[in-house]
Amino acid sequence: EELSMELGNAHGIPHVLMVSFAGQGHLNPLLRLAKRIAAKGLLVTLCSTHDIRHRMVNSDSGAAASDLGAPKPVGRGFIRFEFFSDGLPVDDVRRKDLDVLMPAVRVTGQRAVADIIRRHAEAGRPVSCVINNPFVPWALDVAAEMGIPGGVLWVQSAAVFATYYYYHHGLGKFPTEENPDVAAVRLPGLPLLKQEELPTFLLPTSEYKPLREVILEQFRNINKAAWVFANTFHELEREAIEAISDRIPIIPVGPLVEPPEEKSSPAGIRGDLFKAEDCMEWLDAQEPHSVVYVSVGSILVLSKEEMEEMAWGLCDSHRPFLWVVRGDMRSLLPEGFLDAVIEWSPQEEVLAHPAVACFVTHCGWNSTLEALTAGVPMITYPQFGDQVPDSKFLVEVFGVGVRLAAPATREQMKRCVEAVSTKQRGEEIRKRAAEWKKAATAAVAEDGSSDRHIQAFVDEITNKRS
Ligand code: UDP
Repeated sequence: EELSMELGNAHGIPHVLMVSFAGQGHLNPLLRLAKRIAAKGLLVTLCSTHDIRHRMVNSDSGAAASDLGAPKPVGRGFIRFEFFSDGLPVDDVRRKDLDVLMPAVRVTGQRAVADIIRRHAEAGRPVSCVINNPFVPWALDVAAEMGIPGGVLWVQSAAVFATYYYYHHGLGKFPTEENPDVAAVRLPGLPLLKQEELPTFLLPTSEYKPLREVILEQFRNINKAAWVFANTFHELEREAIEAISDRIPIIPVGPLVEPPEEKSSPAGIRGDLFKAEDCMEWLDAQEPHSVVYVSVGSILVLSKEEMEEMAWGLCDSHRPFLWVVRGDMRSLLPEGFLDAVIEWSPQEEVLAHPAVACFVTHCGWNSTLEALTAGVPMITYPQFGDQVPDSKFLVEVFGVGVRLAAPATREQMKRCVEAVSTKQRGEEIRKRAAEWKKAATAAVAEDGSSDRHIQAFVDEITNKRS
C-alpha cells in the first residue's frame, strides 16, 4: 500500500508507533493509551494485523477500510492505523490456534514493522518510539535493532506483572513440576498468594502451558524497554507497583478507559471487533440500580451446564438482566433464552448507566478497570490466567465484589446477586465501589497520577525531537 497520505496538520509533530496483538483485550487498552498520548499533541500510528482491520470494519464501529490510514484529530494530536499480514490466509480458522498464529505473525510482523519505520523515516516523519502490548514482544527487538527507543504497555495488573517477573527470574518459591505441593507464594508487595490464586498459566498442572511461554517471552527482552507502562494506577496497586519498581520501574498510566470526551469518537477510532447490539434504550427503561449485567469478555467460553445454571440463577433473582452471550455459546442456552441475551454490548456505556446494579464478570483486567471506574459492584467468576488473581484482589483487597465459585449453581448465582445488590446487604461493597470510582476517575483526569505519567512521557518524546 502506498503511504503517500496527506498528513496535513499532523506533519512535523513527534510520531509514536504502536504495535498491537490481535485481541480485543489487547487492542482496547493500547488504543486508549494512543488517544491519551495523541490528545497531548503527538501523532500515533497504531498498527496491527489485517484481521483486525477486517473485524473493525465489519463490527460496524463505523470504520471504512479506506479511511483508517488518514490521521484523525484527537485533542491536540492525531491517530491513524496501518495493518500488516499475520501470515495466514484471510479465512484461516487456525488463526484461533496461538501455536499457529504466534510464529506466523512474528515472521511477517517483524518485517512489516521494520518496513513501516523505514518508510516513515524516508517520508520525513520519523518514528520517535515504538510501543507494543503483550504477545508481540518482537516489536521491542525490532525497535532496538533500528536504534529507536521502545516501550511496552502491560495490559494486566501490576500484581500479575510482578508475579510473572518474579517467576521468570526465579524469585519466590513457586510450585513446579518437581515440587508441585507449594501451598502459597510470598512475593514482595503482594498479599500471600495461595497456589489456587496464582495466574493459572504458571501452575505445573496448567493446560495452558504454551500461553505461559507466550507471556514470559516479553519478560525475556523487557530490559530493552525504555518505558514499561502498566494499565493500573498508583492509588489502586501502590504496594505492588513500588515493590516491583525496585527491580524494574513500571509506569502506571491507567485505568485506560475511554476518555469521556471520546465516547462519541469519530468512525474508525473505536476499536470494537464485535458488533455491539443496542441496549441503551432498554436500559433507560429500567429502574435505577436494578439490572444485573453479565459478560465474560471476548475469549472465555462457558460450558453448557454453566450457561444453564446462570440462566436459571438470573431468573430466580427476579431482576432484569443484560447478558452478553457470544457466538457458539448461544447454542448452549436453555430454550427461550436466545431472545433475552445480546451478542456484544457497548460495555463501558452499559457499566456507566444508572440502571446497572452489578456486574457478573470473568475478571478480565479491562472489564475490571472499567467496572471500578464506573463504581459498579462485581460478582467475580474467574476461570483462568490473570482472572484468578484479579478476582482475589477485587474481593479481598479492593473490596468491591463477591466470588461466585465455578462451576456456579443457580442458588449460588442468586445468592451472589443478593449479596451485592439488595438494600440490606452489600452496603460496604457499594461504598468501596463508589470510592474506587472517585480514585480511578481522578487518576486519569488532568494532573492525576496517571495523567502526569503520560504527560512526562509526551514531554520526553517531544524534547528528544527538538
Ligand atoms: N467488551 C465489550 N462488550 C462486551 C464484552 C466486552 O465492549 O459485550 C469489551 C470490554 O469493555 C473490555 C474488552 O471487551 O474492554 C474485554 O477485555 P477483558 O480484558 O475484560 O477480557 P478478555 O476479553 O481479554 O478476556
